[in-house]
Amino acid sequence: MNALAVRDDLATRTLLSKSALNVADICGNKAWMEIHHRRPFIGNPDVTFGSAVDAAVEQVLKAIAAGIPLGAAQPMEAAAEIVERDGISIHMEEVEAAITDFVRDILPAHDWTDCILQAHLNVVMDGWGECDGHPDIVLRSDACWDLKTSKRARGTARTVELGLYALMIEATTGRPVPEVGYLTRVRTKTPSWQTLSTPVTDEFRDWTREHVDGFVRARRADELLNRNAPEPINWTFPSGPKNSGLCRTCQYNPMFGGTCRMAVRDPLPAGGDEG
Ligand code: SF4
Repeated sequence: MNALAVRDDLATRTLLSKSALNVADICGNKAWMEIHHRRPFIGNPDVTFGSAVDAAVEQVLKAIAAGIPLGAAQPMEAAAEIVERDGISIHMEEVEAAITDFVRDILPAHDWTDCILQAHLNVVMDGWGECDGHPDIVLRSDACWDLKTSKRARGTARTVELGLYALMIEATTGRPVPEVGYLTRVRTKTPSWQTLSTPVTDEFRDWTREHVDGFVRARRADELLNRNAPEPINWTFPSGPKNSGLCRTCQYNPMFGGTCRMAVRDPLPAGGDEG
């Protein structure tokens, strides 16, 4: 049987990407560790849940885009593949409820004809070099949507990651992206899907470019400053974690064999990452 949930292995990717920007945003020191002391990601149930919902929704949308009856889609089989891949068990009934609600609440709200799922964008951007990305959903209108799972509702869709996707899609197609947004499965006691989007304006494009410029400058300065250093030193990514819960599952925490000296580890804080 062919695998349903196929994803590129991004563990060793070093190109400019949404993930690299996100890491720098949540913890500067982690962004620096990713450059000089990279270690494999440590899985956790929240991230596996997010990946399982991603894979399951993808099967639903593939069927819709291809005009295949929904009954022939295999969302739960794709979710099960993710669980097997990660070796982490999650509540599959929670994934199933997310898919049922997605079909009821989100499917009717958009035109999915010819939508592209997990498009591989690879484009040389002026001043930044080669950029790489895999937006979850690009509609025929060129609107771009990212699937998320979270314990709380999101506050804004105006983020650098979505801005970067918009700029990369525009550089690839030559057409303006009208809108970017998140479809988020909010995992409260009464879970639901949250739809949050923002128009892609020139001001949003400039704002995104300014943020990405800063990251690129920091990476280049790091390369310059550490080029001949016997041991690399973090000069350019000095910030720590946005919240100490991020250290709870971080592969650079000495509790898990890493060498981060900024880690919160005793006691390990509550909280953590989500997919
Ligand atoms: S352990 Fe904490 S401070 Fe260190 S890199 Fe990870 S998130 Fe950042």
